Amino acid sequence: MDELSYILNELGEHRDEYFRAVAPPIVQTSNFAFSKVADLRKSFEDEYSTWLYSRGLNPTVEILRKKLAALDEAEDCLVFNSGAAAIFAAVLANVKSGDHIISVKNPYTWAVKMFEVILPRFNVTVTYVDGTLTENFAKAIRPNTTLIYLESPNSWFYELQDLRAVAALAKEHGIVTIIDNSYCTPLYQKPITMGIDLSLQSATKYISGHSDTVAGVLTGNRAMIERIFNSEYMNIGSGIQPFNAWLLIRGLRTLQARLERITRTTWELVRFLQQHPRVEKLIFPLDPSFPQYELARSQMTGACGLLTFYLKAEKGSTIETFCESLQHILMAVSWGGYESLILPKCAGMPPEAFDAADPAHRSLRLYVGLEEPDYLLADLSRGFEAIADLS
Ligand SMILES: *Cc1c(COP(=O)(O)O)cnc(C)c1O
Repeated sequence: MDELSYILNELGEHRDEYFRAVAPPIVQTSNFAFSKVADLRKSFEDEYSTWLYSRGLNPTVEILRKKLAALDEAEDCLVFNSGAAAIFAAVLANVKSGDHIISVKNPYTWAVKMFEVILPRFNVTVTYVDGTLTENFAKAIRPNTTLIYLESPNSWFYELQDLRAVAALAKEHGIVTIIDNSYCTPLYQKPITMGIDLSLQSATKYISGHSDTVAGVLTGNRAMIERIFNSEYMNIGSGIQPFNAWLLIRGLRTLQARLERITRTTWELVRFLQQHPRVEKLIFPLDPSFPQYELARSQMTGACGLLTFYLKAEKGSTIETFCESLQHILMAVSWGGYESLILPKCAGMPPEAFDAADPAHRSLRLYVGLEEPDYLLADLSRGFEAIADLS
């Protein structure tokens, strides 16, 4: 495997070809000109091997693809204009009418919408399983199962699947495996090396790292990625634009440094929250209290900045007061940027549906960004003080 610093700083870059510029150019062009008909003909025959039109290949995007493939230790990579587009292309490429998918329960919202709104129109069915037990996948396999869809950890409660075991099971049955690896990034989990066929992630999160672009990554073996390029990628037309690719290359330069900083701060916040009397429980996959801690240690080398904690509260309004009292931690979806974020589960339901007896209703997802730890600790304390007299 290439060294990380080489991948982030050099791989895919040809500085002699562009004025020895240290930062690569944004090749902001829709098409490419030819001087020989024979060359043009060749590119029509095989668009995956030459510059023809930027809905297909583009030189700035090429640099990014090489780096992202290497990070995953995968043969090849496509970069999309969103993580959702990567999910859509990967799934669509592996099903036809009459097929059956096994998905881990509660995958990302837009994976669910694809499974429940779009695929049934094409007679593709989905079974959801509790992925914490590999035998649940085995039990759900039918003769027409072509795909197993994973997300490990997921992005609220962090349930894991045993990636090596599920990959081995799927191979036995000739079933393709896809994982959403957004939580860990390829720095902290490399599903392809554990036998998973296709690994995808929302690059909007840590790869961009600055909350200023939306993008998605899909990696796998050359044959499968080339097949997806020639059909779903070109047809959906959701490839990343050169400028956004350039932003992601810039994000990659600091990925390792950002993740290290975020990890250090996250542990400080984990310890603070765990001892706080208003916190009932905290979920973080690399904390020894996590139910699948051993599995996490065996397949992840880091966990970064996303955690969930349960507030002790009888009323939904108490949770709302806590969130609204924070002055620096922003209330927003997404994660992976420079800024810390809070997201209360109860925002996803009408206030009258709040049930304090259901711990999930009292859960808050915290994303830890790049701020000084003390700045964040003081902000969380502000939230706790605001609800000190509230039940
Ligand atoms: C954000 C996210 C996605 C979707 O990515 P977009 O870039 O927003 O399209 C997919 N999976 C997970 C786990 C995510 O958090």
